[in-house]
Amino acid sequence: MKLHEYQSKQIFSRFGIPVPQGIVAENATEARNAAREIGLPVVIKAQVLVGGRGKAGGVKIARTLEEAEANAEHILGLTIKGLPVRKVLVDPAVEILSEIYLGVAVDRTMRRAVLMASAAGGVDIEEVAAATPEKIVRVPIDPFVGLPDYLARDVAVSIGLPRDHWNEFIKIAKGLAAAFVANDASLAEINPLAIVSNDGGSRLLGLDGKMVIDDNALFRHPELAAMRDPDEESEAERKARNADLSFVSLDGDIGCLVNGAGLAMATLDIIQHFGGRPANFLDVAGGARAEKVAAALRIVLSDPKVKVVLFNIFGGITRCDEVARGIVQALEEVKTQVPMVARITGTNKEEGDRILASANLITANSAAEAAQKAVALARAAC
Ligand code: GDP
Ligand code: MN
Repeated sequence: MKLHEYQSKQIFSRFGIPVPQGIVAENATEARNAAREIGLPVVIKAQVLVGGRGKAGGVKIARTLEEAEANAEHILGLTIKGLPVRKVLVDPAVEILSEIYLGVAVDRTMRRAVLMASAAGGVDIEEVAAATPEKIVRVPIDPFVGLPDYLARDVAVSIGLPRDHWNEFIKIAKGLAAAFVANDASLAEINPLAIVSNDGGSRLLGLDGKMVIDDNALFRHPELAAMRDPDEESEAERKARNADLSFVSLDGDIGCLVNGAGLAMATLDIIQHFGGRPANFLDVAGGARAEKVAAALRIVLSDPKVKVVLFNIFGGITRCDEVARGIVQALEEVKTQVPMVARITGTNKEEGDRILASANLITANSAAEAAQKAVALARAAC
């Protein structure tokens, strides 16, 4: 689950990271009042759960109250990368001297959280990573030791940070690592962490904030779970989450119903291998009973792009004939003209296939055969 910039910054602030003291506004008048309270100039920032808001026109400086109101009005009318802007953050504007990237993410290969920093901040870090990976410094964080001062200082030196900011940097890096762990995050990022002018001198300030919280840990953080923005997920993804199904929308036309996350991933690969494009990832898990299959089928079919549905089921704990009856029962509930291809295997496979065939499903003896049939049907429907 992604957190908004203003939410991430509130958390960062609790972990001792200096951030601008901004105010969230939901309309232009509120933004104007916020600007008056904060003092001009201010920066008005779209609160949407995507990066690159600056480039999309979602971050604007205002020097007068009229400008603050007009900019907020404009930004609140934007749709950025498909997401409507419903809130803006009004922050005190600052003079930026340079921009640093600082983030903590999970490195699955190292099985550690890693601290990442770069002097090439402000821009998309993925672009830096692709074009000039040597500009990103990475330090694994020992889960028992945490991030010690000397490692954080090492990073400050490696990115060429001026010496007079090292102590601030160490505090911020340690705060970010602590916020990451305490909130069960999979990403905590400050981009830019800016060197800003301050009373004739300069200091570090976290101008942007991003956190992604591990969904599987949300039960430990009801206060974070309550922050979920419904715009983050599609209608289908929300329904799936409520039905306890693991579902991710993709942009192809072959709907997939699979039991088991591993088999579901393999199914997507097989479809792709035979030249098709999956419409979703879906793990029906746990026995594939009729109600669950019906709920899953409804979600898959709610995507108008779906031209064919592919079932790939391994009847391990639940026998294939039971699974097949579940599918048939689900199809009686969810009437559709969309063709269905089913590959089920495991205990009582023959009986399962017989039941499916009698309900007009196209059966297949292997995942490859099923994928090829589904790809052909999707092509024919174009
Ligand atoms: P993103 O584009 O979605 O990552 O949004 P950011 O919060 O990172 O803002 C984009 C850019 O706006 C930053 O990299 C800064 O260059 C600029 N920016 C943000 N806040 C201020 C500010 O207070 N003053 C100035 N001058 N620029 C700002
Ligand atoms: Mn940013």
